[in-house]
Amino acid sequence: MRVNVLGVGFDNVTMAEAVEEAVRLLEGPEARYVVTPNPEIVEVCREDDAARRAVNGAALVLPDGVGVIKGAAILGTPLRERVPGVEFGARLMEKMAERGKSLYLLGAKPGVAEQAAERLEARYPGLRIAGTHDGYFQEDGPVAEEIRQSGADAVFVCLGAPKQELWMARNAQATGAKLLCGLGGSLNIFAGTAERAPKFWCDHGLEWFYRLCKEPWRLGRMMKLPLFLIHVKREKRKK
Ligand code: UDP
Repeated sequence: MRVNVLGVGFDNVTMAEAVEEAVRLLEGPEARYVVTPNPEIVEVCREDDAARRAVNGAALVLPDGVGVIKGAAILGTPLRERVPGVEFGARLMEKMAERGKSLYLLGAKPGVAEQAAERLEARYPGLRIAGTHDGYFQEDGPVAEEIRQSGADAVFVCLGAPKQELWMARNAQATGAKLLCGLGGSLNIFAGTAERAPKFWCDHGLEWFYRLCKEPWRLGRMMKLPLFLIHVKREKRKK
């Protein structure tokens, strides 16, 4: 059963369980997708039915941020642990490499996915990069078809939220891949054009603050975090 946080149902799984389930889905009969919402995306889903349907339609809904963990705890339905998308993606690639699976990288500015592909193939010997495409295209059809032709087993869809969730809900089947993962800004991290917060900040639930210091233009978006906590507390009172 999923843990409901303001209308988004999160799977109460550990990182290890999430990766295990993703590997299982890779062998499945049809395309499924994974989403990793943070409080900002939960707030978007409160106001956007299509985004909420796309997020809840995922085979795995993983709690990306410490805010979601806090929210679930306040609501009296704690989640076991944070499953950050970028780390989930990295662990999944390890497993895919062991199994000789292929991965398509979709998203980010032109050149980033190619750079990520080079680094990932070097980092995970055995992993095959089936193809890449930047995230600034007009029509879904040709991109989904290109992925299908590449024969990729999995796709990392990094178009930002809720664009990537809507894209996966619409196009997962057409890509012919078995597993699609919506991973936001992860391609920039895999390419080395952006850095993840150092371990200390992640371990102390301060990754968001590190990111804010590095990318102050995020402040507007991050104001959704206090709003999220206000909405969680209101929901708790209603309960
Ligand atoms: N992006 C894209 N196509 C778009 C809009 C955004 O490929 O139409 C990319 C953007 O270049 C960035 C990623 O999506 O690489 C979103 O990153 P962000 O850090 O905002 O996502 P988060 O990790 O916070 O969800």
